Amino acid sequence: MASRNREDAVLVIGLGRFGGTLAQTLQELGHRVVAVDRNHDLVQQWSGQITHVIEADATSEVVMRQLGAHEFRRAVVAIGTEIEASVLATGVLLDLAVPEVWSKAITREHGRILERIGANHVVYPERDAGERVAHLMTGRLIDFLEFDDNYAIAKLRAPREICGRALEKTALRSRFGITIVGVKHPGGQFTHAEAGTVLGPGDLIMIAGGTDRVEEFATAVGTANPP
Ligand code: ATP
Repeated sequence: MASRNREDAVLVIGLGRFGGTLAQTLQELGHRVVAVDRNHDLVQQWSGQITHVIEADATSEVVMRQLGAHEFRRAVVAIGTEIEASVLATGVLLDLAVPEVWSKAITREHGRILERIGANHVVYPERDAGERVAHLMTGRLIDFLEFDDNYAIAKLRAPREICGRALEKTALRSRFGITIVGVKHPGGQFTHAEAGTVLGPGDLIMIAGGTDRVEEFATAVGTANPP
């Protein structure tokens, strides 16, 4: 790959379930991806799906420099269970002055080490998936996305008690502290919710607000809106 292209490309270290899916999705989204794994079989397996797959040990600075890792603007370390390799590989990328390093952590302690050595973004896929599934299981939420700052958006069925009158008459912000940001009528597409929007049975709504308030709303309306 020409070196001028590396600035736009993403370097993915580790082709486990997380790294492999990430690399493939980035490629599907139109990004150039260079993936590195030290496991020969995995490299063979992925080489048909990802354009550039290299068999190498990402904990070696010499090797990574030879691969041109220092020319990338963004890299992801997708090594989890081998914490030592995860930390070393992250350190190598930081030493090579890659400006944006994302690293996967499997525990809080692992994440703290990665943050301490300077990883720009630490992600916790297992923890995040667990939290998300818990929210989906316990509420009436069809989809749920929580942001770092305790703010969430969620998709759910329009509760009966707020159907049939304009949203401005439902006082959802003062009663529940949430805002309806989008509405989808059956068979339609999501559109912006407006003060005069009237919900009907079978509509889907997208709500936004503090995570606790979103959960409270889903629980409160869940009892008023049996499946
Ligand atoms: P997942 O849950 O995503 O399947 P994991 O959290 O179990 O993965 P590991 O199995 O530790 O993570 O590592 C993921 C991948 O990273 C593996 O395919 C492994 O071969 C690769 N890997 C581990 N150490 C290195 C290294 N030093 N250099 C390159 N690749 C490595």
